[in-house]
Amino acid sequence: MKTIDLHVHLPGTVRSGTLADLAAANGVELPLPAAELYPRINSDPTDQEQGRGPWFPLLRVYELISASLRTRGDFARTVYEAMEDGYRDSGTVYSELAFSPSVHLAAGVDYREMAAGISEGIEAARRDLGVDARALAAVNREDTPEVAVAMVEEVIAHPCDAVVGIGLDFDERKGLPGKFAEAFQLAGRHGLKRTAHAGEHVPTAATIPTCLDDLGCERIDHGYHVLKDSDVVKRCADEGIHFNAAFTTSRRALRPWRRESIQGMLDAGLKLTINSDDPALFPTTLKHELELAVDLLGEDRRREFVANGVEASFLPEAEKAALREAVARED
Ligand SMILES: [Zn+2]
Repeated sequence: MKTIDLHVHLPGTVRSGTLADLAAANGVELPLPAAELYPRINSDPTDQEQGRGPWFPLLRVYELISASLRTRGDFARTVYEAMEDGYRDSGTVYSELAFSPSVHLAAGVDYREMAAGISEGIEAARRDLGVDARALAAVNREDTPEVAVAMVEEVIAHPCDAVVGIGLDFDERKGLPGKFAEAFQLAGRHGLKRTAHAGEHVPTAATIPTCLDDLGCERIDHGYHVLKDSDVVKRCADEGIHFNAAFTTSRRALRPWRRESIQGMLDAGLKLTINSDDPALFPTTLKHELELAVDLLGEDRRREFVANGVEASFLPEAEKAALREAVARED
């Protein structure tokens, strides 16, 4: 079956073998060999798990991976491999890959190198595999609002077909969405699509209306805490807002809670897509996430999740129509 992945982070797709190559080439020291590092990602170990450490929080591993991406060729390779792995493991024919320009800009990488590499990787995967992707430049919410605006200005100054929107990621507790209203509004004025991680680790539904009204987001990444406010749930259901969910998280203790939340969101009439988030770093794939979803919610939901992925994508209408038709055709 063909699948769509709208919530996937480029650093979260980097194969351990590729990280080993890129870290060595770019002088980044890893605390453990890459293949041993990935199974040790655990952002919030329980007391019991502590004794079996060392553990490494996801976002710190992201930083090591990001530091290892420096050249146009590095971006092209990782984007290509993300699309190749998604296609091979899960039949993913379209994905929207989030990357973090401010992290690379701070490391001295020119935005044009990132954009050119990403475009090259997408082109090559299109040619070789017949699959497609776009990129989202994600604001790092641990940055100041000024850094976020400067990042968006870079994206606007160097428009490219591959980069169609912006996102908001990193530690939700270190940057509520309202802080980035200016950066998001600037992006919107220049035709960039907008999404944001919200309602994942900060236990309130109030960030969701902020994302929709002040940031101009058209969809939400995660958003489980929307269930805390029935008015917000009703509004999102009425407006057909899509939530890009994923079951597998670096906070292992939260995995059962996510299942309940996803079930609750669907019961409340919300539209969901199922996504891979960080498929290279955790033992998961989009196919596996969809299996978890149908085990929990029933096989008949599978097509609905994929169809929602088409509707929630940031593709122009004509391309969306072509994708709709492609996923409707049986493999
Ligand atoms: Zn995410």
